[in-house]
Amino acid sequence: MGAASHASNFAPAPRADGRRNLVGLSRDEMLEEVQSVGLEPFRAKQLWKWIYNRGATDFAQMTDLAKPVREKLAETHVVARPSISREQRSTDGTHKWLLKMNDGREVESVHIPEEDRGTLCVSSQVGCTLTCRFCHTGTQRLVRNLTAAEIVEQIMVARDMLGEWPSPQDGRMLSNIVLMGMGEPLYNYEEVAKAMRIVMDGEGIAISKRRITLSTSGVVPMIERCGAELGLNLAVSLHAVTDDIRNEIMPINRKYPLKDLMAALRAYPTLTNARRITFEYVMLKGINDSLADARGLVNLIKGIPAKVNLIPFNPWPGSPYERSDWDQIERFAQVVLNAGYASPIRTPRGEDILAACGQLKSASQRPSAADVRAERERIAAIYAEKDDPEAVSATAAE
Ligand code: SAH
Ligand code: SF4
Repeated sequence: MGAASHASNFAPAPRADGRRNLVGLSRDEMLEEVQSVGLEPFRAKQLWKWIYNRGATDFAQMTDLAKPVREKLAETHVVARPSISREQRSTDGTHKWLLKMNDGREVESVHIPEEDRGTLCVSSQVGCTLTCRFCHTGTQRLVRNLTAAEIVEQIMVARDMLGEWPSPQDGRMLSNIVLMGMGEPLYNYEEVAKAMRIVMDGEGIAISKRRITLSTSGVVPMIERCGAELGLNLAVSLHAVTDDIRNEIMPINRKYPLKDLMAALRAYPTLTNARRITFEYVMLKGINDSLADARGLVNLIKGIPAKVNLIPFNPWPGSPYERSDWDQIERFAQVVLNAGYASPIRTPRGEDILAACGQLKSASQRPSAADVRAERERIAAIYAEKDDPEAVSATAAE
């Protein structure tokens, strides 16, 4: 069996004490859960507020529930958080948490503060079945989908750490979410969608869909559904403007080539000037950064309300590329801008703690130079396994 099919086969272990987690349930499931232990339906609404608006993790805090009700719930249920295996803070204020799930698997979330707002970069899978050649996450062998609970809990942990309970109306330092951490969210669509519905619920965490961006490498058959059902902002990892180059650096392009990807994006349900598609474009020296590429990019996206986020490549141990020269990134940006598209260059954040885009791999330290050669060999073996065409066709979404 190829590695790609692992994503659907690993299920997180139930809790050793048999208690069930209330986090990650839909409203309907929460209702069923309270009724299953003999409580009245309105308790579900109370619990929802305590859990998602006030951030309570202990039933004893829930003072408008009668004591026997609290005691009963504490016997059968928990309000879980993953444990924090490691916490790192960059010199620029970026915060990275390595979170340990119930089965011992680890994922990373990154908080990027700005002056009066902040973005949390959330993971959707442990590792990733895909193997984009510039991405550290793609070199991880072990892959499983995160559950809705594990996705929501990343946001709740960040809220705990920022002290943002009850859900503040204004001035939030966790104001935006980007699904740009580890994993391909559209290969774990059901759980991601469930998690985002919980996060968007106005009586709970209450982060609006306008402040949530889902980034995909281009899982074409899921794009329309995602737009119609969730209406989040969409970001697309484009990274190359010809199939030749995109096939080489993003193997998913062999399955869903540019023509199909662009057709799906042109049909993306919420397309208006107010809700532009973000094209992400990692700048790889000598690979995709010529001015001909910039003109190709402009041609490719013609007619789509869009902005182009240029991401200077962030290297990682054993990575095969170099970051484009700054002058070249600026010249590239100018061509895109002249064609009428905003083309901001994303300042790398949290590089000193390997928290920048594409550097996440449940790791915190740079290995010694001597380890890098061994790392290259390990990576080559993983690519050979994961790029097996049979493995790719077995990926979770289909
Ligand atoms: N799997 C999804 C979301 C996670 S990646 C996707 O691929 O879109 C978040 C963004 O970081 C993507 O645009 C990805 O292509 C980019 N990225 C990956 N590795 C990078 C690197 N080493 N340097 C800069 N950006 C990188
Ligand atoms: Fe997976 Fe996205 Fe990294 Fe590609 S860029 S390997 S899709 S996480």
